[in-house]
Amino acid sequence: MTATETSISLPAGLRPKDGRFGSGPSKVRPEAIHALSSLARDYLGTSHRQATVKDQVSRLRSGLSNLFNLPDGWEIILGNGGTTLFWDAASFGLIEYASQHLTFGEFSSKFAKVVQAAPHLAEPQIISSEPGTHPMPVKSNVDSYALTHNETSTGVLATLSRPSEDGLVLVDATSAAGAVLWNPSEVDCYYFAPQKALASDGGLWFAACSPRAVERIQLLCSGDRWIPASLDLGIALTNSRQNQTYNTPSLATILLAAETVDWINESGGLKWAEARCRESSDTIYQWAGERSFTQPFVAEAGQRSPVVCTIDFDGVEADAISRVLRVNGILDTESYRKLGRNQLRIATFPAIDPDDVRALCACIDYVVESLT
Ligand SMILES: *Cc1c(COP(=O)(O)O)cnc(C)c1O
Repeated sequence: MTATETSISLPAGLRPKDGRFGSGPSKVRPEAIHALSSLARDYLGTSHRQATVKDQVSRLRSGLSNLFNLPDGWEIILGNGGTTLFWDAASFGLIEYASQHLTFGEFSSKFAKVVQAAPHLAEPQIISSEPGTHPMPVKSNVDSYALTHNETSTGVLATLSRPSEDGLVLVDATSAAGAVLWNPSEVDCYYFAPQKALASDGGLWFAACSPRAVERIQLLCSGDRWIPASLDLGIALTNSRQNQTYNTPSLATILLAAETVDWINESGGLKWAEARCRESSDTIYQWAGERSFTQPFVAEAGQRSPVVCTIDFDGVEADAISRVLRVNGILDTESYRKLGRNQLRIATFPAIDPDDVRALCACIDYVVESLT
């Protein structure tokens, strides 16, 4: 840090109450941590095969079904390893042979790479667009379409629409699930990890699966294809139905996620959560639009994410702003490294207070003025 950077101290009255603005792991609500701590003696360090833990898994699975307003026949499946592991599992248990992938940033590209490397699958169709935009799927002779609801690396929200009656629509919703409305009739498998919009910790994956997705899993996981047990979605399905996982999960992650889901459901559901996120993100986009030194990275207003705001800077080094914010207790506003832009990336998940977002904007103004 330069001497100027070190000398900047944000006035106490300007600072947000909570300084966590990271896009994942993201802010965990103090209320959820308190709930975990109150239950800890009877819950943490107890068997995941017994009722105490299974009841929390059940609470979380039914809470997610309510949150998403899932039609009859849909199921919530879970397992260990986060979204990255789920891509590997999907390459065995959801993609039959041929898939189409929409790639528009780091995360959406990763699933395509998994499939490209899989010897038992065809070379995937890849439809790309420039970072800061998103492509649309095209009806094709494939059995799976791989979409991403919110590209966390660039701050782009995609529209989810089924391109064809044939083929499963698989949606990576890691940073959108719990914050953005979606329509189950456009999707077959909506999968995510809980350390983003669900304000929990990492390490688990969840998938809301339509009856057609469940059928596909059962078909592929009972056939001739060799599938390592930890990646076998059929085994995950059987365990999930018993409110268990194939191997030991993080009990804290489960409880914190269940707390967030109940909080959102009790506050007004997914519609409420999206409105709260949009209040926060609108604050940031509007603030950026009114400054001469910033502008939203995503040009198309309708594609700007309500949960991950990417803001370009001109004439001031964004990394310097992040460094100053960090020593003042405001964390993880750095842009996604590989995007390589002079940018801040600010999360506005449901757990993040819209008042804290307003305070953050005032703090950034203060830092920019002090730096320039
Ligand atoms: C964070 C993220 C991932 C990776 O999740 P892990 O749980 O770390 O594997 C994948 N996709 C998207 C869209 C993400 O935001």
